[in-house]
Amino acid sequence: MGFVILSTAKAVGYRLLQPQQWPHVICDFVVHGFSRGYQTMTLKEAKQRIEKLKTLISRYRYEYHVLDKQTISDAALDSLKHELYALEQKFPEFITTDSPTQRVGGKTLAKFQKIKHTTRMLSMEDVFTPIEFQDWISRIRKLLGIQDIELFCMPKLDGLAVSLVYENGLLMHAATRGDGQNGEDVTQNVRTIESVPLKLTTLKNIDLPTRVEIRGEIFFPLNAFEKTNKRLAKEGKPLLANPRNAAAGSIRQLDSSITASRPLAFVAWDLIVEMNQKTMDEEWKILRDIGFRPVPESRICVNIADAHAQWSFLQKIREKLDYWIDGMVARVNDNSIYEQLGVVGKTPRGLIAWKFPAEEATTIVKQIQWFVGRTGALTPVALVEPTWIGGTTVQHASLHNLDEIQRLDVREGDSVILFKAGDIIPKIKNVLKELRPRNATSVKPPTLCPVCGSKIERKKGEVAMYCTNKRCFSQDKEAILHAARAFGIDGIGPQTIAALLEQKIINRPSDLFSIQPDDLLVVEGFADLSSKKLVEEIQTHKEILLANFLLSLGIRNVGEQTAIDLANAFGSLGKIVSATLEKLESVEGVGGIVAKSVKEFFSEQRNIDLLSEYERVGVKIKHENKGTNSGVFYGKIFVVTGTLEALSRDEAKNKIREAGGKSAGSVSSKTDFVVVGANPGSKLEDANRLGVKTLSEKQFLDMLGE
Ligand SMILES: [Zn+2]
Repeated sequence: MGFVILSTAKAVGYRLLQPQQWPHVICDFVVHGFSRGYQTMTLKEAKQRIEKLKTLISRYRYEYHVLDKQTISDAALDSLKHELYALEQKFPEFITTDSPTQRVGGKTLAKFQKIKHTTRMLSMEDVFTPIEFQDWISRIRKLLGIQDIELFCMPKLDGLAVSLVYENGLLMHAATRGDGQNGEDVTQNVRTIESVPLKLTTLKNIDLPTRVEIRGEIFFPLNAFEKTNKRLAKEGKPLLANPRNAAAGSIRQLDSSITASRPLAFVAWDLIVEMNQKTMDEEWKILRDIGFRPVPESRICVNIADAHAQWSFLQKIREKLDYWIDGMVARVNDNSIYEQLGVVGKTPRGLIAWKFPAEEATTIVKQIQWFVGRTGALTPVALVEPTWIGGTTVQHASLHNLDEIQRLDVREGDSVILFKAGDIIPKIKNVLKELRPRNATSVKPPTLCPVCGSKIERKKGEVAMYCTNKRCFSQDKEAILHAARAFGIDGIGPQTIAALLEQKIINRPSDLFSIQPDDLLVVEGFADLSSKKLVEEIQTHKEILLANFLLSLGIRNVGEQTAIDLANAFGSLGKIVSATLEKLESVEGVGGIVAKSVKEFFSEQRNIDLLSEYERVGVKIKHENKGTNSGVFYGKIFVVTGTLEALSRDEAKNKIREAGGKSAGSVSSKTDFVVVGANPGSKLEDANRLGVKTLSEKQFLDMLGE
C-alpha cells in the first residue's frame, strides 16, 4: 500500500484496517492514551472548572484579538480550550452559548464594514493524539454504519481564513471569517494579493455559475517575511512579530498601500458552489482549473494508518515549507457523506484538525514528590495529570529545587503550563493562578529524607538539600545504576537494582559483578534464560577504561570530560588516588572545586574499600589516551546538542576526542563550537546568547574531513 498522490488518485474501495492490523506505532499510542481523570470529577467540580476555564480563555482571547497582546502561547491556549471542550463533551449540561467553544474567531472590529457570509464559515475541532484521531473516525463509522471512509488530508496552514466571492467571474467581495456569520470586508486589501485571481479562468469545459465562493488561507511566505523584516530594520521601523500576525495585520490595514507592500499569498481549501464536484480531490482539480492554487501537499488517505503516515510526513517537511503549518486537516473525501454527517455546534462532524505536538501544554499538578539522587541531593518532581506534549505522554515535570518551587509558587492542585523542548524532561513554565482551587496546598520542604528517614541538610552556598545518610537506599540505588551505565552494562534498570538491594543481594556497585543467575530469579520478570543472559552481559563488561571507571565512581563534579582529562593526565588509578591537591589542580580542565571533590572522595575509607572490592571481583582497569594533541580539533571545546542524523551523540563525542578536541556538557564562553542536531533545546539558545559559533551536522563532518 503506497501513497496515493492526489493528481493520480482514483477513488477505489480501500478498506479501513481492523484494529489488529494497525501498524505498531498506532497500537503503541493506544497504550499511552491519556485522560485527565474526569471520571472522578463531581458535577459541582466540573461546573466550577468549566466556569474558570471559560473566564480565563475569554480573557486571553480578548487580549490577543482586541488588544493585539499575546500573553500565553498558542499551544498552551489550545491546550486549555481542548480541556474545556473535553469537559463539555463529558458534561454537556454545562455548555452555554457564551463558551469559547461555541464561537468562531474574534469580534469584528468596528472599523471594517461587515459582510454576511451566505453559508456560515465553520471552524474545526482540534485533536492532539493519534487516539483522539481514531476516536473521531470511530464516531463517524458508527454514525454512518460503514467501515470504508476515505479521507482527504491537507496541511493546516497557520494564516488568516478568508472567503472570496466572485460574480460573473469577477472578484466582488473578500471577507474574513469574523464570528462565522459576519466577517470584515477586506476586499480592497485582498485585491493586492497576486495569487488571488481578480477574474476566474474559464476553460472550455467549465460552466461557471454566476456566483462562485472560494475559501482559503492568506499567509505571509516565510522568505518574504524575512526580507520584509530586513527592510523594516534598515528603515528603522518596528519589526513584524511573526508571519501569522503579520498576515492578519496586513489584511486588516485601513490603508491598502501598506497591504500592497507586503507580499502576501493565498491558497484555496474550499469551493462553496455546486460545480459537480463529488469529492474533495475533484474540488482541488476544479480550483486549479479556475485559477487557484489549492493547499499543496494534500492527498487522499485510504485509512487511519495512511492518514497517520501523511501526518508524520507533514510534520517532517514542515520546516522546509515556505509557510507555517501547525497540523493536518482531515476531511471525509466524499462530499455527500460529508454533508450527511452534518454539523455539531459550530464544527462539522466530517472535518478535524490533527495538530502537531506542541512544546507547551497545560495540566494539573497532582502531587509534588521528592526524589533522592546518587549524591543524596533531593530533587522535587511534580507528578501531573497525564498530558500529551512534544509527541509523548508526560506524567512528571522537573522542578529543579526548592527555590524554583517558591519562584513559581506552585502548589499541589494547581493548573500549570508545561514546557518541553527536544529530549529534556518537561519543566513547569508557569502557574495559572486563576484556576487554583481553594484547597491547593503549598509545598513544605521535607525535614527528613523521604526514602530513609534520615536528617536533611543544606550545604553552604548550595540551594540543594541532601540526605545525610550515606547508606540511603535511594542513593545506593542511583549509585549502582550510574555505575552500571558507566560500565556499559545493558539490561539492568532501576527496578531490578531496587529489588536486588531490597533482597540484600547487592549493596554497592562492585557487587554487580558477583551476581549469580539464581540471585536474579527473585526479581520480577526474570526467568532462567534471562537471568543467565544478564549475568553474561555483566561479566563481559569487566574490563573498563580508566576514564569510564572514574566516571562510574560518581565523584561529585566529575563528568565525562573531566574524567577523561584526569585519566589522560595521570594514566593510572593509583596515581590519581595518591595525587596531592596541587597536582590535581594543575591538570588542564580541572579547577579547584573538582580537585577538592576528587581529594575528598578518595580520602573516605568506604570509597577506598570500594576500589579493593572492584579488584577482588576481577574488574580490570586499562588506560588508553582518548585525546590526541595533533588532531584537527586540538584545543577546541565542543558541545553537541539535539539529535544528529548520521551519528549518535556518543559517536560524535568520540570523533571530537579522536580529533584532539574536548566535548563539554554545557555551553559557556569557553565553548568554541556547538554542534546542533534536530530538536536542540536550550543549549542552542545559550550558544546564541553567548555568541558561540554553531555548526550543522554537515559542517561538523566537513571539518572532520568526512
Ligand atoms: Zn535518605
